[in-house]
Amino acid sequence: MSKKYVVAGAGIGGLCAALALTKRGFEVAVYEQSTQLGEVGAGLQLSSNAIHVLQALGIAEQVKAKAFCPESAVMRHYQTGKTYFTVPLGDTATQKYGADYLHIHRADLLTVIHEACEVAGVSIHLGQAIQGYQHKSQNLTIEFENGECLEADLLIGADGIKSKVQACMLGQTAAEFTGQVAWRGVVAASKLPKGFIKPNANLWVGPGKHFVSYYLRGGDLINFVAVQERRDWQKESWNEPGDISQLRETFEGWHPAVTELLAATEFCFLWALFDRQPLNQWTDNKVALLGDACHPMLPFLAQGAAMAIEDSYALAHCLASDSHTQTALQTYQNIRLPRTRKIQLNARRNAALYHMGSPIEQAKLAVLSGLSHLGLSDTVAAKKLDSIYAYNIVEQLNRLT
Ligand SMILES: Cc1cc2nc3c(=O)[nH]c(=O)nc-3n(C[C@H](O)[C@H](O)[C@H](O)COP(=O)(O)OP(=O)(O)OC[C@H]3O[C@@H](n4cnc5c(N)ncnc54)[C@H](O)[C@@H]3O)c2cc1C
Repeated sequence: MSKKYVVAGAGIGGLCAALALTKRGFEVAVYEQSTQLGEVGAGLQLSSNAIHVLQALGIAEQVKAKAFCPESAVMRHYQTGKTYFTVPLGDTATQKYGADYLHIHRADLLTVIHEACEVAGVSIHLGQAIQGYQHKSQNLTIEFENGECLEADLLIGADGIKSKVQACMLGQTAAEFTGQVAWRGVVAASKLPKGFIKPNANLWVGPGKHFVSYYLRGGDLINFVAVQERRDWQKESWNEPGDISQLRETFEGWHPAVTELLAATEFCFLWALFDRQPLNQWTDNKVALLGDACHPMLPFLAQGAAMAIEDSYALAHCLASDSHTQTALQTYQNIRLPRTRKIQLNARRNAALYHMGSPIEQAKLAVLSGLSHLGLSDTVAAKKLDSIYAYNIVEQLNRLT
């Protein structure tokens, strides 16, 4: 009888893991707490390291067809628009990293992965929240919130930052509020003069705030993320409709490419941003964690979903290469933990830089600005990003086995 693998959570990480495992011949069932599949109405930057995995899973072309390919990543001063650096993306990224760099609507990405899961034969059960698990001798029992139980050979906790599987593995600890909130929204590109928003990953940095904008859906939509330091956050809820006039007020006096975009915005969400210190343990006997369930991070390197996608491929590869589940899971953790830890910590560091947080960060920006006159800041910035984008988990794993 074939092994029965269970995934908790049908987000980007959970569905990618289910697809990767099914393609390796495992029988996979996904249990999702929500009664319908869905993602927040916002965009996602998908860097080349993630696209390598989507290529290996056979869905990169479908993703590209729904995405937008930016020309560059550009960081600028919030008022003057002075450029700190420009890192070329587009064809340069494709050639340099061996895969595209894309911007995609989250719902579009989830739809592509979901359709591929259906074709591959993944069974997806909606409205079923996993509460926890128990190991009794060599048997794994999965417990659902409604009191039902299920025996399985493996449980993958891909249930996000508030993971019940992680709480069961390591004990309940709350994710940490990072002192930052993010407004997110999408605007029809037709509402702004053509070419007014540059076809880049546009990053504007200023005291205590930063703003990111980029195109989605072949250029029909513009996505924005507006981040503000707000240590006073008191609310229990993690996201709610945002107050547009408050958002416009918060970014008053910024560059017109920011203020005009906000003037055209009709609706936005407000999110509190949480993360965790890197964990030392992601596995327990026949249970493993992936994605935000084990390494939630600030979105300031745009890598959370990319890391979940890399995890999913690594996990499937390790399980297919080693019939002993526990050692396969240990190998998975050994491969993934150092990389995600580094990116989690670097994402935190970027908060200080983007928000001109201290005299040191202000000095760093001044150096970047000086180097930019000499045309050198682009090289410095590209070098930092290369270690993230040039990483190819598919090749790495093939080399190991
Ligand atoms: C403002 C912002 C911008 C971002 N931008 C980027 C970006 O540009 N690029 C990038 O790579 N990343 C980005 N990220 C990070 C990215 O969104 C996350 O890292 C990614 O969505 C994590 O995916 P996941 O599948 O691990 O978790 P989730 O997306 O949280 O999915 C978890 C799923 O599990 C379900 N679930 C939860 N509990 C249970 C349970 N008990 N039983 C069953 N199901 C359960 C949930 O309903 C959900 O469907 C951004 C994040 C934010 C906040």
